[in-house]
Amino acid sequence: MVIDDFNYFVDQFEDMRVLKYRLPDFDSLSLKQKVFIYYLSEATLSGRDILWDQNFRYNLQIRKTIEAIIDSYSGDKESNDYKLFLIYAKRIFFANGIHHHYSSDKLKPGFSALFFINLVKGVPPEKLPLLKGQNVNDLISVLSSVIFDEKLFARKVEQKAGVDMVAESASNFYSGVTQKEVEEFYAAKVLPDDPRPVSLGLNSQVLKIDGKIFENIYKSGGKYGEAIDKIVFWLEKAMIVAENKNQKVGLGLLIEFYKTGDLKKWDEYNVAWAKNSESMVDYINGFIENYEDPMGMKATWEGIVDYMDIEATRRTKIITSNAQWFEDNSPVQPEYKKEKVTGIAAKVINIAMLGGDCYPASPLGINLPNADWIRKDVGSKSVTLANIINAYDISSQGNGFLEEFAADQVEIERIKKYESISEALHTDLHECVGHASGKLAEGTDPNALKNYASALEEARADLFALYFMLDEKITELGLLPNEEAAKACYDTYLRNGLLTQVVRVKPGKEIEEAHMRCRSLISHWVYENGKDENVIEFFLRKNKTYVKINDYQKLRIIFGDLLKEIQRVKSEGDFKAGKKLIEDFGVKVDQELHAEILERYAKLNLAPYTGFVNPMLIPVYNKNDEINDIRFEYVDDYLGQMIYYGKKYTFLPLSD
Ligand SMILES: [Zn+2]
Repeated sequence: MVIDDFNYFVDQFEDMRVLKYRLPDFDSLSLKQKVFIYYLSEATLSGRDILWDQNFRYNLQIRKTIEAIIDSYSGDKESNDYKLFLIYAKRIFFANGIHHHYSSDKLKPGFSALFFINLVKGVPPEKLPLLKGQNVNDLISVLSSVIFDEKLFARKVEQKAGVDMVAESASNFYSGVTQKEVEEFYAAKVLPDDPRPVSLGLNSQVLKIDGKIFENIYKSGGKYGEAIDKIVFWLEKAMIVAENKNQKVGLGLLIEFYKTGDLKKWDEYNVAWAKNSESMVDYINGFIENYEDPMGMKATWEGIVDYMDIEATRRTKIITSNAQWFEDNSPVQPEYKKEKVTGIAAKVINIAMLGGDCYPASPLGINLPNADWIRKDVGSKSVTLANIINAYDISSQGNGFLEEFAADQVEIERIKKYESISEALHTDLHECVGHASGKLAEGTDPNALKNYASALEEARADLFALYFMLDEKITELGLLPNEEAAKACYDTYLRNGLLTQVVRVKPGKEIEEAHMRCRSLISHWVYENGKDENVIEFFLRKNKTYVKINDYQKLRIIFGDLLKEIQRVKSEGDFKAGKKLIEDFGVKVDQELHAEILERYAKLNLAPYTGFVNPMLIPVYNKNDEINDIRFEYVDDYLGQMIYYGKKYTFLPLSD
């Protein structure tokens, strides 16, 4: 890791902080590559409204109301209420809607409904986002109950066992239908024994009108068509300056998908995209992840643009060229291993633009496409986001977190020395070989694990990485300098899973988010299964709880046992066993310990969630109106960027 004096910090409010990321070596890209990045970036920013509407049907109207208030407010900007209003606005922008991006709970405003009503009344009516036939009082009455009534639309995604997940979730994928109706609707569409099943339901809203259930497809001329047409406009420009033929073909297929909504096209596109691993510039653009759909089918819109980090990519090349060795030597049952791990591409990239569900909170690693048959037959592409990880790491050093929660000085020193390399390798193994490993038994329904699928899949990839971290093969390949570095990874993982990750959970609540459920499941399962031999122990010092690993080698074997079981669950589609694992180990929080952790954490005055502002990419034109350079500027104003995006990239009508 490079220590530098670049100022990454941009803003901090409530439980969120905002950083900026750097664009290393951007200027050494060719003009054509830079222009390609610019067009793809415009396509990435153009889909923003789609995500807002998917998250909740009132989100766009609320956002536009807030933008209008900020634009026209002439009262006292130093008043406490107005400051609290701005904090609420910043949180909503961070979450792309009024529900917390991570916990899914509706955000609570720090000001009164009356204050909000007066703010709205202060805006010239023509600036307010009124629906046809709606007047200002109607708007006020709708929005104040949506925002202030705590019981109304309380959660974006509700996956509690035993409730109607569709009815209880505020996300906007279903309208007027029950969970049972949705299940039946899609069960009737499954083609049995299709070796290449499309991602059913991925790009649509399901509605019931006059007793009839149907899908409203996201496409040109369909739902979200206005924003999709803008995305297509920029993708068509990008196609002209693509780096090679493969990339051009891929973009063409993506455009066709956006125009038709045809899921077969989507798969064709993903096959082309997965195969294209050699380009310097790459992107993600589409309906990708299904975390926000309680039923795990419908995908939120996201986009990124990136370019290769050549030096760091060498590391992942070593991993992928040994992928078969990892598969053959994993502790998984032989019948659930791939005989041939094909086409795993992995590289380290730098982000040039984040959009949709990747903005402002960005992933650290990405492995796509998601369709199981493409992963098996064609392979998948895996990336680590170097400039994002660097911004995180460098801005977190010396914030006191490690000192507060680590078991002892040995652990602190080890982590300071090796964390950067060991965390990077853990991510690489998770993405490059973890997700790509294993196979389903013949006839297993890829959706059998339903709402538990994401957490179990993350656990499978994490365990694969954890198991191999401490293998001698890793030092032999030069991926880690020694075993101590692997121990640093185990320390961090267990400390996080058993103690600190619950700083993201409100008192009295359970763990909902898939990655957190995964970490809790792994940590608590290995703790319980190593208890007899005291592999991991909790201990108290000055009334504070710590975690210590006593036997790293034994822990590695237990990681392997759990990996074997979770692969079996996935391969056989054993819903019951998967559910039990998650419900027993991944969901519950020890109330007393939780309170202690929250108290210790609060004293550090840190924000558990990080998001990023994007740089501005600015085309420079010559006399003939041709682009002859793309300049970039870093941005230091978080709210300013949100307001700017709200003006420049808003294409959708309001949901009614
Ligand atoms: Zn993953």
